[in-house]
Amino acid sequence: MTDIRIDGLTVYYGTTRVLNELSLFVPTQNLVAVLGPSGCGKSTLLRSIAGFVAPKAGTIRFGSTLMSVSSVQVPPERRNVGYVPQEGALFPHLSVSKNVGFGLAKGKDSHKRIAEMLDLVGLADFKNRLPHQLSGGQQFRVAIARALAPAPNVMLLDEPFSSLDAQLREELRYEIKKILKDSKTTTLLVTHDREEALVMADLIAPMKNGKIVQLGSPQDVYNNPSGLETAISTGDALIVPAIKTKAGKIYTALSATKPLRGESGNVIIRPEEIEISFKKEKSNAKVSEIEYFGHDALIHLELANKIKVSARVAAPVAVKVGDRVNAKQKGPLRFFSKN
Ligand code: ADP
Repeated sequence: MTDIRIDGLTVYYGTTRVLNELSLFVPTQNLVAVLGPSGCGKSTLLRSIAGFVAPKAGTIRFGSTLMSVSSVQVPPERRNVGYVPQEGALFPHLSVSKNVGFGLAKGKDSHKRIAEMLDLVGLADFKNRLPHQLSGGQQFRVAIARALAPAPNVMLLDEPFSSLDAQLREELRYEIKKILKDSKTTTLLVTHDREEALVMADLIAPMKNGKIVQLGSPQDVYNNPSGLETAISTGDALIVPAIKTKAGKIYTALSATKPLRGESGNVIIRPEEIEISFKKEKSNAKVSEIEYFGHDALIHLELANKIKVSARVAAPVAVKVGDRVNAKQKGPLRFFSKN
């Protein structure tokens, strides 16, 4: 197992630049999730690390070993990477055992390794089945076992759960994370699914314009996003107009008073950071809609000047549409200047 160090990675398809001097560090035995919308270049990043795409500039290192620099590319078969593409891509005509053993040299040791891998993913009783005789979740576990069997330097997972239904996805996240941790693997996962990234990763790396824009623990990135896009990509985010005075005090559309002068910008507020109470004489918001989710609800509020915010409140819900309430912000004020 090794870390992955990427510096200044630039990749073009024809004249289109997809990765733009991208840098990223994946510590040994950590699971890092690159989070970004479809088409932003996530698969291209994985394919560059695996050696299927030749970058125009930059370096990729596994530990201190150089895998890619513009003049020299170590071929994919010599990088010892476990790559799980979207949909798992099992060989349909091979049994579970043969799929898992595909990348292993034939021999007595390979049988032992296949058995170990099938135990690890809990599929020892399914070794003679063909992929189409397995559920979606079982097929995915075979794909993981096949990629792990040759004891790769690093594992790369491309949108691993995208083809599975919501419930299975949630179950598998925990299971796969545990398997990767137990096998002490360094893993880079790419996804557009913020919940998947937050739940699975040790570190999250939001991606924008061909670059990684932040690297931190899920909690850190969620609480201290580096910009508006990162805030939105990691969870529900309210963007509320604000003014910052010279003295550094921040007033928002939720504040009771407003300064005459200051720098204009926005603050990012998470809906769980808005508290509502019934104080008729102090009301600053009207309940315009309620979205009920069972365990909690989103109360949509309209402030003066038609500014809209929402508060996430635990069930049971005590307000109704049309009520006038007092909405207060109780979290940190994350100010982003307009300039
Ligand atoms: P993501 O994985 O984030 O969805 P990709 O890395 O697959 O993004 O693609 C990034 C961009 O590069 C997209 O605009 C895509 O259409 C384009 N692209 C991907 N592969 C190729 C290719 N082989 N040739 C030309 N363009 C490509």
